[in-house]
Amino acid sequence: MTLPLSYVHPTPDSPWGTYLMQVDRVVPYLGHLAKWVDTLKRPKRALIVDVPIEMDNGDVAHFEGFRVQHNLSRGPGKGGVRYHPDVTLEEVMALAAWMSIKNAAVNLPYGGAKGGIRVDPNTLSMKELERMTRRYTSEIGIIIGPQRDIPAPDVNTNPQIMAWMMDTYSMNTGSTATGVVTGKPVDLGGSLGRVKATGRGVFVTGREAARRLNLNLEGARLAVQGFGNVGSAAAELFAQAGAKIVAAQDHTGTIVNGRGFDMADIMAHVRDSGGVGGFKGAEPMADEAFWDVDCDILIPAALEGQVTADRARRIKAKLVLEGANGPTVPSADDILADRGVLVVPDVICNAGGVTVSYFEWVQDFSSFFWTEDEINLRLDKIMIGALKKIWDTADRHRISLRTATFAVACERILRAREERGLYP
Ligand code: NAD
Repeated sequence: MTLPLSYVHPTPDSPWGTYLMQVDRVVPYLGHLAKWVDTLKRPKRALIVDVPIEMDNGDVAHFEGFRVQHNLSRGPGKGGVRYHPDVTLEEVMALAAWMSIKNAAVNLPYGGAKGGIRVDPNTLSMKELERMTRRYTSEIGIIIGPQRDIPAPDVNTNPQIMAWMMDTYSMNTGSTATGVVTGKPVDLGGSLGRVKATGRGVFVTGREAARRLNLNLEGARLAVQGFGNVGSAAAELFAQAGAKIVAAQDHTGTIVNGRGFDMADIMAHVRDSGGVGGFKGAEPMADEAFWDVDCDILIPAALEGQVTADRARRIKAKLVLEGANGPTVPSADDILADRGVLVVPDVICNAGGVTVSYFEWVQDFSSFFWTEDEINLRLDKIMIGALKKIWDTADRHRISLRTATFAVACERILRAREERGLYP
């Protein structure tokens, strides 16, 4: 009876196609709840908005904006906003769906949502960026709100953009609503520890996985794709634990140094120049050669679909930590499993960011703010507890950590679905 969606055309390796295949793989483990599974295969709500702004030279430019609420069975929507020229409705749908899974996997009282604008923000002035952000916020204002759907930073968005979103929403509704977005500056109700929380979660889950593999972090060699918010914070923590960052790649280039980078130097270089390209403490390398680098741990922390079948055959790491959302296509997942490479999937590995976003939202509501130590302690406890439950599920059914995470999460979402019942 249920026909496939008419407005997207997923392929096996596209983000929505990848997500659909991940859901199909979990069906045998859902028991009687499997009858509700179609609910996960379509977003609850998808809003497409036109974002026209006046450019600094007086021209008017139009941008395509999206906000997708994938599932709201367990609470308000929660998920970031991405500014990137490759953003599409299909990509935002997949990212929103992965947020539903992630939020349920760590048992946060949220559904899943995501937003994006199809734009290269590097081509905009600061004023143009602000006007675009404010107009986009107004356009999606009809479906977001502290109790409805709470955006946060993602690729190319940051605390300043969250501050503009919070201000715009507050101006439109007539009172200051700090809880409408997370990842805000700390002065405006942001949480300590939020900026590095996703990287911290990658480190905490990675440390647990390394322990199970008997892989010593002291001296372990790491390759990191994407040296932004997630990749750089994770790399810093691994370096503090004694690991060597031997390769990095971002949109400005690929660099390698078998002895490991000096973390303070590379962080300063990225801050000053906008990327890893041109870093003096390493050699430049062809982009595709990144996937052949000799390393123990690989952290994809850039965009979806980066670990293809071909690259999966060449990866030298024993452990892949998915800092990015959807970096591994299903065919590559199978190849990595056959080769005995352990993958800690995005839907648990990078859940540290949304977990501290949840802390931020709770702090905003109670107007009572925690110390960074309290936040990190609670974050570590939630991540370790969630990973243990997932690992137990994987061992019990002899399935991958990805399918186990989907099993834990889908069961929670579909149980809520069943208990709420079908309206009307
Ligand atoms: P960011 O904008 O801070 O950094 C993105 C990084 O990816 C940059 O280093 C950029 O140069 C690099 N990049 C872009 N295009 C690339 C390409 N073609 N090849 C190689 N590198 C490329 O974004 P971020 O917040 O660090 O997000 C990175 C990933 O982590 C995304 O998949 C995002 O959805 C995911 N994520 C982010 C958060 C968060 O809290 N920010 C939380 C969970 C997951």
